[in-house]
Amino acid sequence: MEEAGYDLAVLGPGEDFRYLAGWTPMADERLCLLLVGRDREAVVAPQLNVEALRQFVSAPTFPYGDADHPGQALEDALRYLREAPRVTAVSDDLRADHLLLLQRHLSSSRWGLASQLISPLRACKDPAELEALRRAAAVADHGVSAGLSACRLGATELEVAEAARAAVAALGAEAVPFVVVASGPHTALPHHQPSRRRIQPGEPVLVDLGARVDGYCSDLTRMAFLGEPPARYHAVHGVVERALQAALEAARPGVPAAEVDRAARTVIEAAGYGPYFVHRTGHGLGLSVHEAPSVHAANPQALQEGMVFTLEPGVYLPGEFGVRLEEAVVLRASGPEVLSRLPRQVAVLCRN
Ligand code: ZN
Ligand code: ZN
Ligand code: ZN
Repeated sequence: MEEAGYDLAVLGPGEDFRYLAGWTPMADERLCLLLVGRDREAVVAPQLNVEALRQFVSAPTFPYGDADHPGQALEDALRYLREAPRVTAVSDDLRADHLLLLQRHLSSSRWGLASQLISPLRACKDPAELEALRRAAAVADHGVSAGLSACRLGATELEVAEAARAAVAALGAEAVPFVVVASGPHTALPHHQPSRRRIQPGEPVLVDLGARVDGYCSDLTRMAFLGEPPARYHAVHGVVERALQAALEAARPGVPAAEVDRAARTVIEAAGYGPYFVHRTGHGLGLSVHEAPSVHAANPQALQEGMVFTLEPGVYLPGEFGVRLEEAVVLRASGPEVLSRLPRQVAVLCRN
């Protein structure tokens, strides 16, 4: 905070709160803030969170009831901190009503985003975090496999998504932050929401799933095909696989994230599909599904040992089909270690 020129950091419920405190309150309309000053900390919390917070946060808590306005508790907490902040950092996803209240109480402060302080801390994972990420990855392997096996003729995308969710829940995951199941032309939509569309013979299916285990997320994409894929499908799948391999080879400690994106994109451009790779090559993975480092063409950030991120090139041919292959990796001194154990070849499923 001192280096970045902040006097106060204010965190609402979310992954930054969880990273610092080991627990995060349910994000609702009740004001619940962790306030970190230069030498004191405080919590403003609705009465119903006080007991849960006590187990994780030793800082003094300033509670208020559901029938009270939280303004007085906030005022008391700020007085305890003895800060008249010139610059305050707030959670990137703090609710607008809570930010407006905070701004009324700290009217002379300037404002910045807490991600500037916390995302560099979160980017490199410690051994306990890596263990959680490994468990989450193993669960995602089962979930994606279950999804691919559920891709039968006539099954809907929603039914396949449900099969994947059930497999993940059976292994004890706390949550499934997202499931993408796309069939046929829907595979050309990178973030398609599963629908009641039925899978037809001669079609690809894309399954992309994240599971949350001990707070940490996984993110994995594989492809299946109902029947024997035609040459055109194999060609595109092969290009995406080579792009992923190029990204895996480029990712080394000290290499800028942009260079890894460039490595994958060059393969896809050389094959003539450049305009159809419509997103970045990957993103950091941890308590959030998307976090630092963002692996995109303009990010100069050097990759570091201990970072965990995805590599997920794709080619999306509108109205026709798309292919994405996604791995999550932990960066070692020698290069990336892939967390999934699933093969990346297309899973060829019986037509009926
Ligand atoms: Zn995504
Ligand atoms: Zn994904
Ligand atoms: Zn992803």
